[in-house]
Amino acid sequence: MSTFEKQPGQQKQSSSLKAVRGTRDLLPPETALWNHVESVARDVFARYGFGEIRTPIFEDTQLFARGVGEETDIVSKEMYTWEDRARAQSEKAQSLTLRPENTAGVVRAYIEHKLGERGDLQKLFYIGPQFRRERPQRGRYRQFWQIGCEVLGPVSSGAESPVRDAEVLEMLATLLDELGVRGWQLALNSVGSAEDRKRYNAALREALEPVKARMCEDNQRRAETNPLRVLDSKVPADQEIIDALPKIADFLDADSAAHFAAVRAALDACGVAYTVNPRLVRGLDYYTRTTFEFTVPDGSGLGTQNALLGGGRYDGLSEMLGGPKAPGIGFAIGEDRLILVLQEQAQANKSGAPGLDPETWGQKLDAYIAPMGVERNAAALALARELRRAGLSVEVGDGTFRLKKSFEAADKVARHIVVLGEDEVASNTATVKTFATGAQVKIAQTELQALLR
Ligand code: AMP
Repeated sequence: MSTFEKQPGQQKQSSSLKAVRGTRDLLPPETALWNHVESVARDVFARYGFGEIRTPIFEDTQLFARGVGEETDIVSKEMYTWEDRARAQSEKAQSLTLRPENTAGVVRAYIEHKLGERGDLQKLFYIGPQFRRERPQRGRYRQFWQIGCEVLGPVSSGAESPVRDAEVLEMLATLLDELGVRGWQLALNSVGSAEDRKRYNAALREALEPVKARMCEDNQRRAETNPLRVLDSKVPADQEIIDALPKIADFLDADSAAHFAAVRAALDACGVAYTVNPRLVRGLDYYTRTTFEFTVPDGSGLGTQNALLGGGRYDGLSEMLGGPKAPGIGFAIGEDRLILVLQEQAQANKSGAPGLDPETWGQKLDAYIAPMGVERNAAALALARELRRAGLSVEVGDGTFRLKKSFEAADKVARHIVVLGEDEVASNTATVKTFATGAQVKIAQTELQALLR
């Protein structure tokens, strides 16, 4: 018996099933905006030489434990993890996890397919759902979408160069501008090399020792386990203490400091504005050197979640996952948030670039074919096939509809109605009304395409 069949004694369920908390359905016409955003992103990424990568939605749990870090919020409390039972003697049970982010998966694929042996820089992008068991709120979901890029390769490919960081940031500025996002701000920091961070962590721990008792419980724990995370804290009462803590900039060695200066100089040369935020350390353990975040101002439609995207450099990640040295930099845009911002901005000024005008999300079809009587249904479908194959967008009505109902249905979805009655079918003609002008003509079916375009 399948698990979907009713079990003996099972109560009849009266409540209807709903999408799981923190997940949602995306419906037309809104999906037109999602497609618009993705197509602009694909277009921009192509111009910067990126190719698409698609990795599995679930991976071995170890990938995230090692890659993202056991101490992070994501790994310690937000992952969807399950024990995947063995189905055959030859298989072993395995702990699997729905991906909470995509960088670890991309680096795993880079290692698995030996992409480093190709010698050149790998520029990869992805678009797909990610999963985190967070507290759902506006702009924060348990299944959400990210559009991301990763640039990585062997040291000889120049993957470590600050030019790569600046190029990625400049590309993001271009993408947001082309999408029409207004008022975005770029915050930048360097968290140094692994060694710099070790020294900084020690200094933070020392500085927190005498003051941590006055901090919230979460920060007291972080002060012990992962002092860097204290800098992420938004708890108002702790801000004064946090602002007085040592700054990472004072712990960068000469190479890290020069790298950061070169990133900033290249951004200045491109005219990309940014502010340096010494507290920007970001929530994932793998970051080294450059970290960044793009935010939008309050009132942009994101509520308290004002981070549109984040990213940074991860020079040691490949080695952490058992791969060769492969420095890299990447980012992930929260696509759900990007859509919310675009919707809010489009509503605010009632217009915008293609795809941003709410009026155009549900673009009207070229024609609605209305067969008069069920005997005309087959001819209507044949005519629709011909027009669709010629590149026109067409909806077909139903012969059981009265003329008035056909006109109402057509006016909602299409720019023209094409009426096929007994006479029209017999003479290979059609009666066409253009809704915008009210003009009505009877023409040969061979002339239809020209009229409908
Ligand atoms: P992260 O992978 O944590 O660096 O996040 C990168 C971006 O993904 C963030 O700036 C957000 O825009 C987006 N994001 C992260 N978590 C969520 C979530 N639970 N719901 C929606 N967007 C998210």
